[in-house]
Amino acid sequence: MFKKSLRIQIVATFIMIVLISLFVSFGITRLIAEKEVTIDDPFLMIASDTVSLLALTEPQRREQILSILSHYSIHGEIIQEGNVLPFSLTEEEAAPLLQSESSEPIFLNRKHGPVRFIGVPNIDNNGSSLIVKVDFTYFSEVIQHILFIGLFMVLVIGSLFILLSSNYIVKPVIKLTNAAKEMAKGNLSIRLKHKRKDELGELMNNFNYMASELQKTDKMRDDFVSNVSHEIQSPITSIRGFTKAIRDGLIPQDHQKEYLDIIYNETIRLSKLSDNLLRLASLDSENHPFHPVEYRLDEQLRRVILVFEPQWTEKKLAVELDLLACRVKADKDLLEQVWQNLITNAIKYSNYNDKIEVKMEMLNHEVHVHIKDTGRGIPEEDLPYIFDRFYMVDKARSRSGGGSGLGLSIVKKIINLHGFKVKVKSEQGKGTCISIAIPLLVNTKNTNV
Ligand code: ADP
Repeated sequence: MFKKSLRIQIVATFIMIVLISLFVSFGITRLIAEKEVTIDDPFLMIASDTVSLLALTEPQRREQILSILSHYSIHGEIIQEGNVLPFSLTEEEAAPLLQSESSEPIFLNRKHGPVRFIGVPNIDNNGSSLIVKVDFTYFSEVIQHILFIGLFMVLVIGSLFILLSSNYIVKPVIKLTNAAKEMAKGNLSIRLKHKRKDELGELMNNFNYMASELQKTDKMRDDFVSNVSHEIQSPITSIRGFTKAIRDGLIPQDHQKEYLDIIYNETIRLSKLSDNLLRLASLDSENHPFHPVEYRLDEQLRRVILVFEPQWTEKKLAVELDLLACRVKADKDLLEQVWQNLITNAIKYSNYNDKIEVKMEMLNHEVHVHIKDTGRGIPEEDLPYIFDRFYMVDKARSRSGGGSGLGLSIVKKIINLHGFKVKVKSEQGKGTCISIAIPLLVNTKNTNV
């Protein structure tokens, strides 16, 4: 449990960092100290001051002075040539003293550390020398002890502060974890409140954004499912009702054809609906086949318009073409679907004797295809939604014309897939113009055909 806690990990990291930095810096300072820093002068001074002190004193009181100095870790011994060396010094160590001509104090061992031996030759001009042992081991141990306690306090107090301040980091993480758990249970309305402007604040903002996007998708999915079931249910209900009425003999023989026509149209509507749903599902899936090729756009448009000739002649519509020979790169089948849906709508939402225009225009390295009708138009307030799935301006009229509000959403999906642009201009009662902008291939000729 401790291993997993973020708080404990933060404190452990702090302790590790302090200890590692101390060891490294201690090592480095020792290295530098050993090489460059020598604290010889104070030791030499102690030795020469001891000699000065002894010089001021009568010979018989020297032992007393040396005994007092020993209380301060300064141990002195006066030796004559041939005397046994004090402090277990070897002949070799004492050699510099015996060989010296001057009366300057000299170190008898060059070792670094709190214990040093200094010799002062010829102190009385009678061949006697003074050997001083300065032993600061005790002081050095006291200093080490104080340093150790200090370090320990830094670690304990620092860890406590780090533990308290780790809340600042840990709290939002706990909040995020709990919110993610709530979300996993299905509560997508959860949002995190905070005032932080750092990376954790950004993480919480992104979490909130993700939650709201998921909520939108969830709502869209719910709407989609209820729309699909409604669109399927309504033709099935009328088919069931009319077939039952005919079966039960409730419809007179001479009216039966009328009802059978309705049933027939409803089955066509259902079949169209399932086609469109399958197409949309396929376009939504990542692995929808997408094969852009180069081809003549004007030829494709002309062909699609000809395919719909029976429908536009039946409504006595005037169809005007203003096409330009041009090549584009697109998935031919998908773009054919776009023209089919737009021309079907233009025919469907036109009145008898209206006019449909299919016009191409070259603008800023793009070909703009305008499909314009003089039909009933779309109210301004509906315009932002006409590309939404299942959106129908007038549900009853759209359904009676075999529509289910999926045609334009398929158009939009295909256009987005290609990275093209689509625009709508419409005025209620006057007509609609839907324009698609497609980038031109460089070798396109701008000629009327
Ligand atoms: P539908 O199957 O209902 O035609 P669409 O997605 O093709 O579905 O169109 C959505 C809605 O936009 C339609 O219900 C219709 O009201 C409106 N609409 C589309 N094209 C036209 C047009 N050319 N003229 C008037 N209204 C149109």
